[in-house]
Amino acid sequence: MGIGKDGEAKAGFQRGMELRAKYTLVAEGARGSLTKQLVARFGLDEGRDPQKYGLGIKELWRIAPERHRPGLVQHSFGWPLDNRTGGGSFLYHYGDNLVAVGFVVHLNYANPHLSPFATFQQFKTHPAIGSVLDGGERLSYGARAITEGGWQSVPKLVFPGGALVGCAAGFVNVPRIKGSHNAILSGMLAADHVAAAVAAGRAHDELADYEAAWRDSPIGRDLKPVRNVKPLWSKFGTIAGVALGGLDMWLNTIGLSLFGTLKHGKPDHAATKPAAATRTIEAASPDGRTTFDRLSSVFVAGVSHEEDQPPHLHVRDMALQKASEHDVYGGPSALYCPAGVYEWVGEGESLRYQINATNCVHCKTCDIKDPNQNIDWVPPEGGGGPNYRGM
Ligand code: SF4
Repeated sequence: MGIGKDGEAKAGFQRGMELRAKYTLVAEGARGSLTKQLVARFGLDEGRDPQKYGLGIKELWRIAPERHRPGLVQHSFGWPLDNRTGGGSFLYHYGDNLVAVGFVVHLNYANPHLSPFATFQQFKTHPAIGSVLDGGERLSYGARAITEGGWQSVPKLVFPGGALVGCAAGFVNVPRIKGSHNAILSGMLAADHVAAAVAAGRAHDELADYEAAWRDSPIGRDLKPVRNVKPLWSKFGTIAGVALGGLDMWLNTIGLSLFGTLKHGKPDHAATKPAAATRTIEAASPDGRTTFDRLSSVFVAGVSHEEDQPPHLHVRDMALQKASEHDVYGGPSALYCPAGVYEWVGEGESLRYQINATNCVHCKTCDIKDPNQNIDWVPPEGGGGPNYRGM
């Protein structure tokens, strides 16, 4: 707290806390910045598949009462994505004429011209969605990466003096589009093992029993049968992949498996192809009724950051960003970021990478999808970020 843009302490400066707990449970969601360091430092991902991710973009609407059908749940996959790009939608009617609508794009997409934000806006133009939203009011907007690697990608959960729980560990069940149940269960399981260790007088060591227990716990029993859905979807595309994944999933529930345990292959950033090898994608202009631009969306995300602080988005090597992210991949950060944080401004000698860090909605996509892993997301000053009311 209290460090200025120039890196100097301001009035109100406070040092970070030093955690001296016997055990520290890390529960910071998908692609957490502490988890990333722990995984690297303790080699927690050795022998595991790379973690896979999707970017979920969501809006909260209040719609016309005559269009509201309390309890109605709609899901889709595919359109407007092509068959080779994974993703799908959700739309829930609930509460006081409220609708939560969103779209998830799997971040192993190949085409750097793809904009998940524009894909979501286009999705809302479908008659089945637009007819629900038209005449309503958009109340809020948000975006967040979710884990999709599942069973094969869960890292070693324990390290000296701590453990990963929830989406920091990657317990989302992709076909159920759900992870909160396993997040809660993993917190309970880790707590049981912490309590037993503390009762036995232990501290600061590895909770090896927690690591040994999760695959035979309800979390493992939830994730194992669906472990091939994501790799099959990635390998065979939406139509064939989802059908095969569904078949394998249901056979697994009766103890049979067609494929064993399939691998995920490359991490998501490595799936991106050079811009010149892919087709460009035109995005339609927003109509301001059901479709919107990024900046008006950031406004309703309630984002607030202290302006006078060092940027919380660290580009390790700016020359590499120009030579590769811009020159080879066509600047995909300007498209994958759902908050308009990254812009290549100017041209020729004056070309520069502008980072509008105060727009950031903390989705972590840049940390995941930058083709060279050249961007590190770190927490901004205390509590800054989106304020997701009702989301
Ligand atoms: S800067 Fe990164 S973390 Fe922030 S909104 Fe954009 S992609 Fe997400």
